Amino acid sequence: MNTLVVVDLPDAWGTEVVMWLRAGARKLVIFGRVADHLIEHLQWKPLTWPESLAHASRSESAPSYASRESAATVVYGERAALLQAQGWQRPFERFDFTDEWNNLGYGAIRANEPLWGLSHALDTGWGEIASVEIDGQRVASYATLTDIEQGSVLWFNRSVGPVDSFEWRAVERFLSNHRAGELPCHPVLTEIPWGFDAAITSRLDCDEDVESARALWDAYRAENVPFSLAVHTGNLADTRNHAILAELAEAGGAVLSHSATHAGDWGGNYENALHEALESAQRLRQITGEPVQFAVSPFHQTPSYALHALADAGYKGCVGGLIRNDPEFMLARSGALAGVPAGFIGHTQQCMLHGFSMLAEGDPLAVFKQAFDLAYETSTLFGYLDHPFSPRYAYGWRDEAARIDAHRALIAHIRTKARNPLFLNENDALNFLSARAEARIVDEAGGFRCVASDVRGNGSTSLQITVEYQGRTAALETGVVLR
Ligand SMILES: [Zn+2]
Repeated sequence: MNTLVVVDLPDAWGTEVVMWLRAGARKLVIFGRVADHLIEHLQWKPLTWPESLAHASRSESAPSYASRESAATVVYGERAALLQAQGWQRPFERFDFTDEWNNLGYGAIRANEPLWGLSHALDTGWGEIASVEIDGQRVASYATLTDIEQGSVLWFNRSVGPVDSFEWRAVERFLSNHRAGELPCHPVLTEIPWGFDAAITSRLDCDEDVESARALWDAYRAENVPFSLAVHTGNLADTRNHAILAELAEAGGAVLSHSATHAGDWGGNYENALHEALESAQRLRQITGEPVQFAVSPFHQTPSYALHALADAGYKGCVGGLIRNDPEFMLARSGALAGVPAGFIGHTQQCMLHGFSMLAEGDPLAVFKQAFDLAYETSTLFGYLDHPFSPRYAYGWRDEAARIDAHRALIAHIRTKARNPLFLNENDALNFLSARAEARIVDEAGGFRCVASDVRGNGSTSLQITVEYQGRTAALETGVVLR
């Protein structure tokens, strides 16, 4: 074994890990607590947290037309260039819509919270790649890349590491590429299909109306961008909302479930969630003639029992993810979920186009463009959402024309930033991510043997998974051995 990933390394194992590290070419990833002996061995220095940390880690709610963020921020320095992470910043908490949505997609670091909070105050010296800053003042180390002669240690100051953030890309780069040729490397499967440099999906969550999505659908057709609707099926009591679903399915768009009653927390328990899942799937199948494959969580609230209920109801995956709740569903990468049956995937799409989130100062779309840029830079499949207008609510948009302009401007930005972006409807995007989750890399004598799985679904049968290894990229093909 030449690579070890440890969460909260106990003191009792410190000596053994130091001996292992010194015995050959090694890579060690540590999330959270570090054993005392290893701290001494690497010459890291204990510090104490300032009393202001807990307060500084929280953000105010965002007012309309502005964002808010915590004073405490993770700031990546020059050494982060080794993992192409220089310039990255991640406030501990930030909001673009009330105290619910962080359109940049990541979760919260709360000072005193177990697992998602900080582990301990350390100064890791020259190896530091990111620090905790409060109002621009450095407080302690947040992430460290300590290279020793025949090994390398990557540490994040949090038991969950950067699992809920674009920063996960640094872990992938460390494992797949850092000191390739000298130290062990491991293949990484990206979320971008082979041959493309960006992948994007989006949907409208039909909370209060469905037919009113038509104007935006027309705009997406004019842009040649696929369109998806996630439907709260209570809206289907009004037969005026049926035609668009059948037409969309016929035209190659995607129809997803957005529950039967839009209940908070999927109804509060497994039985209610199962009812929401089954009832909405049945209604949608009656209208489109096709089985529903994926669900979008109402309010993006995704408790674990709801995931079990969706899997038991035959769904293949769920979209959600919100900084406010269910931190275990805030995941930088799509795929299998802890404790949920195999074959079911989760995908975080925390980027809500909303009229009240257009900035009053500067470029109104600046945050949304930055959200795509982060996904682009970190090979993340980018998902965003909006809602059809209802007679009661226009989601902060002045009118449909203003909303369509904002969507067009975001699409134009994506097409400027990326050379070869792939726009997918939600079913095709999620089926691709399912195939990625099912692909296998087998560590054998002589190399890593690849086992690709078929990409199911309609439009994306020709998509291949991208594998990165030692700085090279290739299409994942069964039987190929990476050396
Ligand atoms: Zn909704």
